[in-house]
Parts: sequence; C-alpha cells; structure tokens
Amino acid sequence: MARYTGPSCRLCRREGSKLFLKGDRCYSDKCAFERRSYAPGQHGQGRIKVSDYGIRLREKQRVRRIYGVKESQFRRYFYEADRQKGVTGTNLLRLLEKRLDNVIYRLGFADSRNQARQLVKHGHFLVNGRRVDIPSFLVKVGDVITVRERSKDLGAITQALEAVARRGVPEWLELDAENRKGTVKSEPERSHITLPIQEQLIVEFYSK
Ligand code: SF4
Repeated sequence: MARYTGPSCRLCRREGSKLFLKGDRCYSDKCAFERRSYAPGQHGQGRIKVSDYGIRLREKQRVRRIYGVKESQFRRYFYEADRQKGVTGTNLLRLLEKRLDNVIYRLGFADSRNQARQLVKHGHFLVNGRRVDIPSFLVKVGDVITVRERSKDLGAITQALEAVARRGVPEWLELDAENRKGTVKSEPERSHITLPIQEQLIVEFYSK
C-alpha cells in the first residue's frame, strides 16, 4: 500500500489522540486536534461502539502512523520483534525507535518524523562518516550521526535544533548541537518512550 499523503491532522483526529506529526504546530493552539477532537467525516461526532478487535486495530494504526511506517513494513518489524529475546512489544518499539528517521527527529535535527524522513532521503546525514539515505536504516550503539558538511547551515535543521529544547533529547542519545553531531549511547529502553502507547494491544492484534 502506498504511503499516506493526505492531511496529517486528520490522522490524529481518526486515532483520537495527538500524534505530533507537524512539528511546532502540534504544540500551538493551531493544532486541529485541540480544536476538533472528534473523528473526521460525517459521522465523526456520532457514538460508535468499538469492538475488542477495533481497539487493538486502532492502537496498531496509531503507532504505525506515529512512526510513519507502511503496513507491510510494520508487520515485518513485529515478526522481527517476536523472534528476538525479551518482551515482543518492547522489542517492537525498540526497533521503531532505532530507525534513522526517528533518531534524526529525536536528536532535534528535524521538526517531525516526516521532515526527518525527507532530510534523510535527500542525503543530508552521515552515519559513522558514510552517507545514509535510507530512513529505515537501524542505528546501533556507538553509531555517530552527523550532518553532512555542506548541509550544516541548512535552515530546516537550524530551526529544528532551536525547538528541540521543548521536546528534549532522550537519554539513549547524545546531542552535540554545535557540531551537528549525535551519538547512540545505548539501546532505547521502554522508559525512554514517553508516548502513551499500549504495545500489548499490538501484540494481541498480530497474535490472534
Ligand atoms: Fe496532530 Fe495537532 Fe500535530 Fe495536527 S497539529 S498533526 S492534529 S498533533
């Protein structure tokens, strides 16, 4: 299935929670979910009884949309997480967190994961000195992510770095904003992911 290219705010309203897909706007009073926190469409304000299946489906869709991952890819992450040792739900979130586009966003080089994905695709970043333009590239502990020399003063990156103070950089990453450099200090832990995600529902969705 192709990547969704429609209005991002519609996704937040569909999922019934803020997914923070539009950078600064999500923290302002222009946020569409703050204004209309009901589902889009003609029946969006109606009372809808959601089944157990529906609850699990919505949680899966919500997380998939937060990270901007296509269904087939998300399913592959789930099977990979299930194969690994430990708790499947935590493994799944860890895999999603380690995607290069997410790391760029978490470090504050981009305002949103969408923007991070685009910046990565345009080849603005190096991992351990080598250009990587694949948003799904998974980082490892010890990897050093830098902005390519000629992109260091790129307006989008500079602006995003100014705004990162509000979000903060998670403990498993280290940011050297002046040198446009980030380091992966450790594996992301469940406690580092502060979004209200119920990953057990996703495990149940795929395990039925
Ligand atoms: Fe979602 Fe609000 Fe951000 Fe739009 S502005 S993407 S509704 S959080």
